[in-house]
Amino acid sequence: MDATPATVTTTKVTAIPGDGIGPEVMRATQQVLAAAGARLEWEDALAGAEAFRKGIVSGAPQETLDSIARNGVALKGPLETPVGYGEKSANVTLRKIFEMYGNIRPVREIPGLRTPFSGRGIDFVVVRENVEDVYAGVEHMQTPGVAQTLKLITEVGCERIVRLAAALAVAEGRRKVTVSTKANIMKLTEGMMKRVGEQVLKDYPQLAHEHMIVDNCAHQMVIRPEQFDVAVMTNMNGDILSDLAAGLVGGLGVAPSANLGDQVAMFEAVHGSAPQIAGKGLANPTALLLSAVMMLRHIGDFATAAKVEHALYVTLEEGVDLTGDIAAPGQGVSTWAFADRVVANLGRESAKVPAREYRPLEMKRWPAITWYRAATTRELVGVDVFVESERDPRAIGITLQAAAEGSAFTLEMISSRGAQVWPDLGGNTFLVDHFRARFMFKEAPKGNGIAEITDLLQRIGRQHNWMHIEKLQRFDGADAFSRA
Ligand code: NAP
Repeated sequence: MDATPATVTTTKVTAIPGDGIGPEVMRATQQVLAAAGARLEWEDALAGAEAFRKGIVSGAPQETLDSIARNGVALKGPLETPVGYGEKSANVTLRKIFEMYGNIRPVREIPGLRTPFSGRGIDFVVVRENVEDVYAGVEHMQTPGVAQTLKLITEVGCERIVRLAAALAVAEGRRKVTVSTKANIMKLTEGMMKRVGEQVLKDYPQLAHEHMIVDNCAHQMVIRPEQFDVAVMTNMNGDILSDLAAGLVGGLGVAPSANLGDQVAMFEAVHGSAPQIAGKGLANPTALLLSAVMMLRHIGDFATAAKVEHALYVTLEEGVDLTGDIAAPGQGVSTWAFADRVVANLGRESAKVPAREYRPLEMKRWPAITWYRAATTRELVGVDVFVESERDPRAIGITLQAAAEGSAFTLEMISSRGAQVWPDLGGNTFLVDHFRARFMFKEAPKGNGIAEITDLLQRIGRQHNWMHIEKLQRFDGADAFSRA
């Protein structure tokens, strides 16, 4: 049973009803919370389709941002990005503006909801890094036929999310943290998550720690999901696996989530605005209600959180007055009848809610300054130059070798999409017009190497279109680049 706080004061919460079924599930949730005695004061705020239509390109007006900043806690319905009104989602904007770097997705068997996994006792949390990775959205067409996105992973980003996962495990009395990565292929980016995870989790001797390659993690989540307790991942892996995990316990329609940052926490259902059923009183408010339970714990009202959670579980278990998405065929009731039933069940206890001693989540506070990681030594050893060419690798090799003659560099190799094609290894790599040529300094440059690189680029530019360069550096004696 949850610990009851000594005093519960009123907390102001920004309520963003959002689009489609959002206003309905928000109203139902607020009704249950009020009946449960939650000491909340709501501040309604606009975001989503209506904001876009008013010409607010971010999808969230300044008053909404001010309200979230002031209150530090928000409960949010789904937001749409209407076609023809900008290309950025208001959800992503809100996460980025308030640096809500931790996406928390509990995955727990829901009573009364039959799935192929019912009875397995699934009860774990996916912790997804929420602001880095390929979601930085830094993309370029390097040639008319070759696109590139930057996968940006920072050491501090990995540390923040792993510490959050560990803190969550401690707060919820969980025992194990699984760091899941693709470090076997992306040794620098995903490998950073693995390395930092191993380092950071040494600070939590009470928690078991394991590393799992992400593809196997997907497999294990389906084969033996009960083995997981807390699983932490970079953004894209977490995006995919948290949805997979939600599918194990009834799907996105009943999945809650939290987005946590140092200053702001925003709670929301995972589902979207379900426009087909919007305004008809058919929507199931379970996911938003479970998100609100997470919010109550976040603000320290553990007792009301437990009360609402038990009432919801009793309702789902008894199976009377369920919404159409989870009721027996033809038995579905309205959003309001369901909420009324949950209210009627307040004070009852469900044996299906796992006994868990929740404690406040102790999140490390990160200083609001530019994070800078110094290296004791750095060397510039070469440069990768990306060139567009319709010629074959042998011909490109000849021209690039000639270009490098008399320069500070030698051509070491050429690769196509990561596979070496010059010198020829005898393979049969399919070629596209996009090559990476690796030039190494013949001897260490005296200065910063910029004059030598500029000279090389001018030489290459006489024969080839180059799009992009990348310095090859060594930090603290270790290569800061991948091998071909
Ligand atoms: P969706 O809104 O989640 O709806 C998919 C289907 O799931 C619905 O048609 C409905 O199925 C069912 N469903 C979802 N939530 C339900 C609930 N609470 N109660 C009952 N049934 C529910 O996904 P979508 O159609 O892909 O997305 C619609 C819009 O929402 C898009 O504009 C998308 O961008 C946005 N979206 C926003 C968020 C967010 O704000 N976090 C997240 C996802 C999507 P039936 O039709 O079978 O009843």
